[in-house]
Amino acid sequence: MTRLYDSRKRILVTGGAGFLGSHLIDRLLEQGHEVICVDNLFTGTKRNIEHLHNRPHFEFMRHDVTFPLYVEVDEIYNLACPASPIHYQHDPVQTTKTSVHGAINMLGLAKRLKAKIFQASTSEVYGDPAVHPQTEEYWGNVNPIGARSCYDEGKRCAETLFFDYWRQHNLDIKVVRIFNTYGPRMHHADGRVVSNFIVQALRGDPITIFGDGQQTRSFCYVDDLVDSFVKMMDTDSSITGPINVGNPGEFTIRELAEKTIAMTGSKSELVQLPLPEDDPKQRQPDITKARENLNWEPNIDLDEGLARTIAYFKTRLPELIEA
Ligand code: NAD
Ligand code: UDP
Ligand code: UDP
Repeated sequence: MTRLYDSRKRILVTGGAGFLGSHLIDRLLEQGHEVICVDNLFTGTKRNIEHLHNRPHFEFMRHDVTFPLYVEVDEIYNLACPASPIHYQHDPVQTTKTSVHGAINMLGLAKRLKAKIFQASTSEVYGDPAVHPQTEEYWGNVNPIGARSCYDEGKRCAETLFFDYWRQHNLDIKVVRIFNTYGPRMHHADGRVVSNFIVQALRGDPITIFGDGQQTRSFCYVDDLVDSFVKMMDTDSSITGPINVGNPGEFTIRELAEKTIAMTGSKSELVQLPLPEDDPKQRQPDITKARENLNWEPNIDLDEGLARTIAYFKTRLPELIEA
């Protein structure tokens, strides 16, 4: 779509070379906007954005959001942060800094520019939830000193900062809490369950089930999630969030393993490994608020989304077999 200058926005996406960020950028460019992608390429890759190389309205800046950033934009989507346990536990101090200092810098930027600012928060703010399904009113059950805390508490503090900038400086903030999302361009080796199972199935390696596989997750396909981001950003200033976004369809990890084997036609066997520390037993978003405020709900089910994701990983299989 081409847009006249008057309605074309300049939009900053931090973490734009990552899984979710790169899909969001595709959508914003499709809508005719200009996009600046800021990423330090810690977990993101140039491969995720290489198809945008020659697009005149796309610009990539290699930058770490824990340092100040001076650019001129109309809207900011703050997605920078490693999202999988393997990556966020690799350098936990840097993870907290990314969430906290990154939020301060992006909020400072938004304050100077009077720009709308969106925060990719997470269902992990609910920790190992004692309430099921999780509504936005639930305050969570988070271990402040465990191995996952750098991520969970970093994201909680980022939410605190967003709401303090809103109260104190009247910023137009948009906070969403994202539940497990999957799709093409997920990192193949970051340990997240959907990519792990698909890559294991395609290689014929054993499928690794942690614990008894009875823990549950609710998986949202990336295109649905990106719809919710754009709808959230388009709301008027009365809508701040936090709003849960995700797909309420809940599956056990064992069901996911069995589905993946069936859909890939794999001969992989299932093996059981120990459950990681603080691994939540169940997770399902209550998306009533998203339905009411954003007029949004996901419409790609797990079978359809898995088929698309398997197709993506098949194209990368030669490289993944070597890896
Ligand atoms: P991802 O790891 O693919 O993307 C994160 C991006 O941030 C990467 O490109 C990485 O290089 C970049 N980054 C990390 N630290 C940075 C820093 N200090 N400065 C600049 N860039 C930095 O992960 P994703 O799945 O695309 O997640 C994107 C956002 O959504 C994250 O904030 C994550 O916490 C949140 N989220 C994702 C999920 C999910 O299921 N994918 C669920 C909940 C929340
Ligand atoms: N900041 C930034 N870009 C800007 C404006 C601010 O990166 O365009 C950073 C700045 O480094 C500061 C942070 O955002 O540390 C918070 O800014 P704010 O104005 O809220 O706080 P102050 O500068 O008063 O500490
Ligand atoms: N999991 C698993 N096998 C794997 C990877 C993950 O059984 O190879 C489990 C993990 O223990 C958790 C669920 O799948 O219960 C989702 O894990 P993921 O890391 O994808 O997301 P999160 O725990 O952050 O929701």
